[in-house]
Amino acid sequence: MLKYFKKLQRELKKYLDPQYMPLVIRAYEVAYEAHLPQKRQTGEPYITHPVAVATILAKMQLDYQTIIAALLHDVLEDTDVTKGELGQEFGSEVADLVDGVSKLTQIKFATREHAQAENFRKMIMAMSKDIRVIIVKLADRLHNMRTLGPLSLSKLRRIVKETLDIYAPIAQRLGMHAFRVEYDELGFAALHPMRCRVLKKALKKAKGNRKGIVSEVEQSLRSHLEKWGVEIQALMGREKHVYSIFKKMRDKNLSFLEIMDIYGFRVIVNNLDDCYRVLGALHNLYKPLQQRFKDYIAIPKANGYQSLHTTLFGPYGVPLELQIRTVEMDQMAENGIAAHWLYKADQDNSNSAHIRAKEWVQSILELQQSAGNSLEFIENVKIELFPDEVYVFTPKGSILELPSRATAVDFAYAVHSDIGNTCIAAKVNRRLVPLSTKLKSGQTVEVITAPSGRPNPAWLSFVVTGKAKSNIRHFLKSQKYEESIKLGKRLLLKSVVELMPDISKIPDDAMEEVLARLNIKTDDELYEQVGLGARVAAVVAQQFQQVMEPIQVNVEQRPEEENSPLEISGTEGVVLHYANCCQPIPGDPIVGFITPGKGMDVHVGYCPSLSSARREHSEYLVSLAWEDNIDTSLPVNVVLDAVENKPGLLASIVTALSESGTNIKHIAATEGGTEYCQVHLVILVKNTEQLSKILHRLQRIDGIVQAQRGLDVESDDKKGY
Ligand code: MN
Repeated sequence: MLKYFKKLQRELKKYLDPQYMPLVIRAYEVAYEAHLPQKRQTGEPYITHPVAVATILAKMQLDYQTIIAALLHDVLEDTDVTKGELGQEFGSEVADLVDGVSKLTQIKFATREHAQAENFRKMIMAMSKDIRVIIVKLADRLHNMRTLGPLSLSKLRRIVKETLDIYAPIAQRLGMHAFRVEYDELGFAALHPMRCRVLKKALKKAKGNRKGIVSEVEQSLRSHLEKWGVEIQALMGREKHVYSIFKKMRDKNLSFLEIMDIYGFRVIVNNLDDCYRVLGALHNLYKPLQQRFKDYIAIPKANGYQSLHTTLFGPYGVPLELQIRTVEMDQMAENGIAAHWLYKADQDNSNSAHIRAKEWVQSILELQQSAGNSLEFIENVKIELFPDEVYVFTPKGSILELPSRATAVDFAYAVHSDIGNTCIAAKVNRRLVPLSTKLKSGQTVEVITAPSGRPNPAWLSFVVTGKAKSNIRHFLKSQKYEESIKLGKRLLLKSVVELMPDISKIPDDAMEEVLARLNIKTDDELYEQVGLGARVAAVVAQQFQQVMEPIQVNVEQRPEEENSPLEISGTEGVVLHYANCCQPIPGDPIVGFITPGKGMDVHVGYCPSLSSARREHSEYLVSLAWEDNIDTSLPVNVVLDAVENKPGLLASIVTALSESGTNIKHIAATEGGTEYCQVHLVILVKNTEQLSKILHRLQRIDGIVQAQRGLDVESDDKKGY
């Protein structure tokens, strides 16, 4: 009968006061009897499960009541044994513990999103009565995760998801790092077996390659510490875990090798003083990376974690990440609150994780009392448990959950993809903010949309949610397609008309013939290729000419005036860009330059960047003209030379501009010397006429010597003005 108890007994003998052993054995016997008819999914007798759970806790040296509760944790749920019977035999504390664990077991959290307020409340209540309840539950879950094997896929997914969404964050919050890591590893292996295998293999190989350097560094650290006379308990290279590697690769966009290039070491010492002595000694051996030093001993983390962290430039320039801590801090770092029972004697320090956990549970209870309703309560608990996420409010008061670093645009897409696609501005707590603003928990966010609003390619650089990313990409792709068809159609017709002035429309039969010749399926496809510059319009036009007219017309003989320019409307698009180097505005002579695959850049006719294109790629140049009555404002650079940067100068500039109804996009002053400064502006103007009025007005400001349209600010800098 005691067959399954042996291993647990060995662990218990290491630390447990022998007077409690008979009671623990009795608990085993009760559990054994009660579970006798049951088998686990693996086919083993059921008793192996509670024993395994108790063994996990015995390895962390938890008290006898916790061990007993672990052995009995499933009897109330699965067998005829009652709480009263347990109380009589093992005392009311154990009976309450088992009861608490059973209640936790009955709570099923589907996913984090659907975690019910009531379920959370129950869990917090159970934890608040006796924190050991959650420790037993976490160990129970750990063993279940270790033995997922024979479960059906759907049940396996549910358990893994619940573990990662609910129990892993709780373990983390309680400082039980070892549990958290194992949950993550087992969950990753269960959900992504292929990725896990591949990474494990790569890790094994990399470990072999690193062996030499690890032992060399270890040797050098050891001998240096010896020289300094600091006694150390242990010094070891830190294991890298598959899931954390995967996470870093995904979240920080690092390659596997970049992650493996960092070497982690841990130094364990006897007392607090030695931590700082080791730090001093090692900073003397290798240069530290200054920003990376963290003193979590003086300022522990919220979950009680204590350690010194530093990064050193090791031999061969290898970065070494070091953690320095005492044996006790190490226990705390691994087992968090569960380490409390190991260090009962030392009241000041060792209890910190325990005290913090109690304070935390207490604060949640208070939250529950002060929260207006259960919804508010659950959001508060979630903020506590999942600090990686932000919870923001819509103007109507409903709550949206977003990943950390989410922006106003992510919010807009989370509300609805149409809102995201047409958003033009956002208000956070009723104040206007840029769309790229990162949101914080508790803020109220309002999105302002306009029918003409369009996703901007620049948004892709700051959005974090998959929904926003895929929607923006999709929109830009279809937008680009439509625009390039439109542009291609106009470019092609223009070229055809240049060759055959009596034509106003491309005849269908000619189109069919040309499509067949070019091996293109539809006319839209042809237009798209022309619009994107994959095909040159003039060359395609010659195909049409060949199809439609037997006699070739010599292009060269045509007088230049008949090349009527393509008119553009000034509305910005994905395929049509206004060149940054010269920033054309209505009124400027303009020329288009087609970049194959991208579309057309619009330059001012005299822009220097066109000169090489004129010589080498004239087929990509398109003569353009502005349409009449354009009603958009476009950015243009203005450079002001001023006598001195006298106070009030910027203010008078801004006043002058706002009085003339001009929007400023950017303003910056650079000092040119003691008596001379330059002010760079980017303003939005409708046309050259408006611009020259503004320049005149600026020039009249006292202190400004010259106001002129400038080249792109960046190229100014390069020239060293
Ligand atoms: Mn269980």
